[in-house]
Amino acid sequence: NISEKWNDVDLYFTNKLQGSDSIMDSVLNANVEAGLPAIDVSPNQGKFLHLLAKLHGAKNILEIGTLGGYSSIWLARALPEDGHLITLEYSEKHARVANENIRRAGVESKIDIMIGPALETLPTLKGKGFSQFDFIFIDADKPNNPHYLKWALELSRPGTVIIGDNVVRNGHVVDGDSKDLNVQGVRQFIDLLSEESRIDSTAIQTVGAKGYDGFVLGVVKE
Ligand code: SAM
Repeated sequence: NISEKWNDVDLYFTNKLQGSDSIMDSVLNANVEAGLPAIDVSPNQGKFLHLLAKLHGAKNILEIGTLGGYSSIWLARALPEDGHLITLEYSEKHARVANENIRRAGVESKIDIMIGPALETLPTLKGKGFSQFDFIFIDADKPNNPHYLKWALELSRPGTVIIGDNVVRNGHVVDGDSKDLNVQGVRQFIDLLSEESRIDSTAIQTVGAKGYDGFVLGVVKE
């Protein structure tokens, strides 16, 4: 069956191109043991995010949606010595698991988790001196994606990279009549992107261990 094939191919690339990474493996194991849903990015996607942040030379990263910190750690590993990542998570349990994982990965000096609904923590960032992120990864509750895009633009500068995950949703993104609030959230997010003159964007469909999905990549214009 086709999804097994996608999984096999994903595993093939992970094994060949990442080799064994006991820290990342233990992060995923800790998430499973803590009963977190397996909705982290896949290993190949994590490394893809890492490489994107690296090739952009990102020093300040914002992530919306921490879960167990798997993508946070991938992104933090792309940061220079004085780089910093803020990740927003409303579940105290997820944040606790993420904190342990981040310590295990040795990147605790680079990552701060802010606990609370992102729409409450985002407005506090400017006051804390965080106003111009280089790289923003949106990966939380999809119905709020339109709000997250507005905040991402508010907290960006020309050249900021904005990524939104899970925008294909098994192809349902094209179903305008969908009753699924996640699909509608993503569609509003795409509508905003199409109307927004401050950002240049595209979307890429993906298949793999996480099924059929995709992401949006945008760059804030000069
Ligand atoms: N980025 C993570 C990774 O790849 O390892 C996965 C994040 S998971 C898809 C989404 C996370 O967003 C969950 O941990 C969930 O608790 C959190 N979340 C959902 N709604 C939220 C909200 N309103 N504010 C902050 N976090 C939220």
